[in-house]
Amino acid sequence: MQKTKKHPIRQTDEIGRRKKRMGQVIVIEDRCKGCSFCIANCPRQVLRLSSAFNKKGYHPPEVVDITRCVNCHFCEILCPEFAIYSVECDDFGE
Ligand code: SF4
Ligand code: SF4
Repeated sequence: MQKTKKHPIRQTDEIGRRKKRMGQVIVIEDRCKGCSFCIANCPRQVLRLSSAFNKKGYHPPEVVDITRCVNCHFCEILCPEFAIYSVECDDFGE
């Protein structure tokens, strides 16, 4: 059986600062059906319902505070409409 090679996750940058796991969440507004699953289940309270309507007549989520997103992909996994996803952002601080 072929073995899978493991690559360690880099925890520091080139000058030794610790890497914080951060994400950027992207909403494809016109796919959204306003079910609020992503808002209710985000562990970091990144999202809230927008007051604007999308082209289907639903309120899509909007980002409250992008600095709180940890790129856990939970919103992405839960969304029944594939209308939201997160991508990794590097942040070297403290
Ligand atoms: S990726 Fe995780 S922390 Fe970021 S908005 Fe989605 S559920 Fe919240
Ligand atoms: S889970 Fe998807 S469809 Fe539901 S409110 Fe969030 S983005 Fe919209």
